[in-house]
Amino acid sequence: METRTINGLKVRFAFNGVLGDVLAHHLTLDMAGAKPSNKYRVYYYLRPWIPITLRQKLQRKIRRDCPPRWYVNSTFMEDWTQALRNGQYRSEGLDTIHPWPDGHRFAVALSHDVETEDGVRLVPALAEVENRLGLRSVWNFIPYKYKVDSGLLNELVAQGHEIGVHGYNHDGKLFLNERIFERRVPKINEALRAWKAVGFRAPMVHRNLVWQQSIDVLYDASCFDIDPFQAMPGGVGGVWPFLVGDFIELPYTLPQDHTLMVVLNESTARIWLDKLQVVKDLCGMSMVITHPDYLNTPKRLKIYQELLEHLANDDEGWKATPAEIASWWSKRDKSYVERLPDGSSAIRGPAADRGQLCSLKQLFNVC
Ligand SMILES: [Zn+2]
Repeated sequence: METRTINGLKVRFAFNGVLGDVLAHHLTLDMAGAKPSNKYRVYYYLRPWIPITLRQKLQRKIRRDCPPRWYVNSTFMEDWTQALRNGQYRSEGLDTIHPWPDGHRFAVALSHDVETEDGVRLVPALAEVENRLGLRSVWNFIPYKYKVDSGLLNELVAQGHEIGVHGYNHDGKLFLNERIFERRVPKINEALRAWKAVGFRAPMVHRNLVWQQSIDVLYDASCFDIDPFQAMPGGVGGVWPFLVGDFIELPYTLPQDHTLMVVLNESTARIWLDKLQVVKDLCGMSMVITHPDYLNTPKRLKIYQELLEHLANDDEGWKATPAEIASWWSKRDKSYVERLPDGSSAIRGPAADRGQLCSLKQLFNVC
């Protein structure tokens, strides 16, 4: 894949050429916006004293200001459609490695951030709901906030789930300045090693992909394609993983449960399913963040179950843990398509055994 440099970091996207240009443009915007502004600093300083009802009121106001399909990044989609139109993607030539292995059309990743001790207690029952449907997920625990029982972690791993690290202590200050961040990194790396975890998600999806290079991970999952409900603005637009510096970034692409169920009081999975179709049409990765802490009523659990059942019944989706997805992506990233003398093509490199050749025309239905 083409290597680009963004903010001093080596970056490789899912696609080259003008499609890569669009992905690079939107990542650059995200990185420029993902900074603690003064307003943000004041908000996080005052946050413990802002009543939750007021915070939710502010979030409802965001909703009123949003377009009806706020969960689709329309600016990105316009740029993407334009790039597909302008690019030379009308040939049937099999010159691209499909984003996903083994004949799948899109990828499905489930992730949970466990926010509180109450959330920890709800983990086994929620894992059981997924187990029954043959699904597995990553459980991101906070290393320095509550007690994490190694028995629970071992049990989840034995069931095929993955363990990840969710920040440091979730006080909202991890990214306030580089000094705080650097001071906490050795302890975060220690937790990653202790839990044999390879993935990280920043609390409140605050992020700084440059600073985060000192966290020893295979992947980070703190970016999103769009999420107007987050205090730190941004959105990378693309719905595929990408290599940034030394790790793979896995942006989440389905809205968070808190937004749908708490802020918007949705009673069905309709928004998740609508976005899922958008991601599927783009052969992307549908990554969802839920929290056992919020899936704590039968009504909310039912909405999540509706999504899970839909995913479990969709054979076109590759259901994998984020670590499996990142590992595949790293192989795909190291592979390339070779044109053979007889005019055919072949995948070379570590993705050769599971990768599928495709043309961008068929991938995105370019006519
Ligand atoms: Zn969190």
